[in-house]
Amino acid sequence: MGRLFGTNGVRGVINRDLTAEKVMRLAASAGALLCGEIAVGRDGRTSSPMLRNVVVSGLLSVGCKVRDAGVLPTPALQHAVRHLGLDGGLMVTASHNPPEFNGIKVIAGDGVEVSRQREAEIEDIFFSGGPEPTPWNRIRTVSKLDALDPYKWAILSHVDRDVIRGAHLRVALDPGNGVAALSAPAIARELGCSVSTINAEVDGRFPGRESEPRPENLDGLRALVKASEADVGVAFDGDGDRAIFVDERGDAHWGDQSFALVARDFLAQNPGEAVATPVSSSRAVEDVVAAGGGRIVWTRVGSVIVSRAMVEEGVRLGGEENGGVMYGPHQPVRDGSMTMALILEIMAREGGPLSKLFGELPQYAQMKDRVACPEDLKQRTLEVLRESVEAPKVETIDGLKLRYPDGSWILIRPSGTEPIFRLYAEAENEERAAGIVEEHKRLVEEVIGSLD
Ligand code: MG
Repeated sequence: MGRLFGTNGVRGVINRDLTAEKVMRLAASAGALLCGEIAVGRDGRTSSPMLRNVVVSGLLSVGCKVRDAGVLPTPALQHAVRHLGLDGGLMVTASHNPPEFNGIKVIAGDGVEVSRQREAEIEDIFFSGGPEPTPWNRIRTVSKLDALDPYKWAILSHVDRDVIRGAHLRVALDPGNGVAALSAPAIARELGCSVSTINAEVDGRFPGRESEPRPENLDGLRALVKASEADVGVAFDGDGDRAIFVDERGDAHWGDQSFALVARDFLAQNPGEAVATPVSSSRAVEDVVAAGGGRIVWTRVGSVIVSRAMVEEGVRLGGEENGGVMYGPHQPVRDGSMTMALILEIMAREGGPLSKLFGELPQYAQMKDRVACPEDLKQRTLEVLRESVEAPKVETIDGLKLRYPDGSWILIRPSGTEPIFRLYAEAENEERAAGIVEEHKRLVEEVIGSLD
């Protein structure tokens, strides 16, 4: 049976890997499985109106009722599905991918993207010729759904608006021409912040910057923070589920630092609670959770896996190092605008500059690398590595995570999407992190060479 789904839904280059015909059949297959009333949303990509139309047709063809939410962030559609008790949602988006890409995220009735098992069921229907079409007299309707306003108000209801308003924060926002432009500036203004923006027009060609916010492509936001003397800068990815922060000095901080800030505050408010995060997350997160008397629920890498673990184990906070924070009291999925509101509340309550808050967090040196490995050798390589590695503690939640007495660690993990092994290491200093990576890179290469 073929595969459609990657790590976050179905993605591809439009009209090459991902055609209108394919998406219509995918939507019909998903509709046949989810059944009932389905919300449809889309991001601002140039190909999204085309895909929205075939998604609606595909859903109608199998007897679903369609609620069209228009252009909005993915988490806004997820909120609507759960809040209104709909049977599911289909979001037309390729998240942070380049403009020639598009894709579909399939959302279950609980607002979280469907599990791997449900994806496989959709693939089964898709590859066995698609679902049975519904008789003419059972074709249902399409109606509008206003999901954006209720979503904004839901976020505002989860923070202390008076405290944030009282702090008169200056906020610089960079939605990267993505759909966070429709939520984040309005929310920040409602919180009494004075807001300046860059790349705040929704434009599916992403003329302002790459759609994935990374510290190295946020020069525009950094300059805006300085020019507007902002207290904080926030950059979002293309579909608004991730946020990356820039402090008042113009320094960008990777997502595990902002997640650690949120986790530290969450445990101060909710002592002893659990926090879910993938095994690739920084020890800074582990340290603040331990210091707050909390417990980490480690998961495999992938935001859907973290969200699903939160739902299954009743965990109310989750996060990833790429700027995806899942705040369960709002919804157990990544939400960039919610993350922004949480950081604004922390800044308002603590009073100090954001650089000071980040400076209080434990700092570790990180190192990443990769080793090419043919798809068919990944599993055996992992098995042999497991026998050959030497570390006092070896964890096998996802790949191999080796922990050392000095607190350093390395994760050796086969990529789910590329023919490579990924190596991530973290240590007290760069020399140590580089040393661990170097040593294990050699080992992984040796093992692959011996199997080849
Ligand atoms: Mg995204």
